[in-house]
Amino acid sequence: MHELGIVVKVLEQVDAVAEEYKAEKILKVTMEVGEVSTIVPELFTDAFDWAKKRTRFAAEAELEMIIIEGRTYCQSCGETYKTTEYGKQCPHCGSSDTYLLTGDQVIIKDIAAVFGDEDDDVAPQEESY
Ligand SMILES: [Zn+2]
Repeated sequence: MHELGIVVKVLEQVDAVAEEYKAEKILKVTMEVGEVSTIVPELFTDAFDWAKKRTRFAAEAELEMIIIEGRTYCQSCGETYKTTEYGKQCPHCGSSDTYLLTGDQVIIKDIAAVFGDEDDDVAPQEESY
């Protein structure tokens, strides 16, 4: 299950961001996960729930995953199409001269955090990068 390796890296980044912005704790991590990425969402969620307990700031963090549709571009006819239905072969002209536009990403979209007393004047905010 390679999801765990990715989750551990994600949580390391989340912890680093929390520390940098002096957050008290992380409430929620929003991920963008492409539907033709190598991530299985259920396994990713399980790994997240296991690994978050070992973090400094994200032990109670909620995970939200936004699934991004896979789209492929055809260089022969200039059309785009749904990758999960047609794979590498363009349904418009039959060409295989195609490449994936979106749908293989696994990225941290947002991190929602709570800030402690020393940052009273700073409203809870979302950090994205
Ligand atoms: Zn085509």
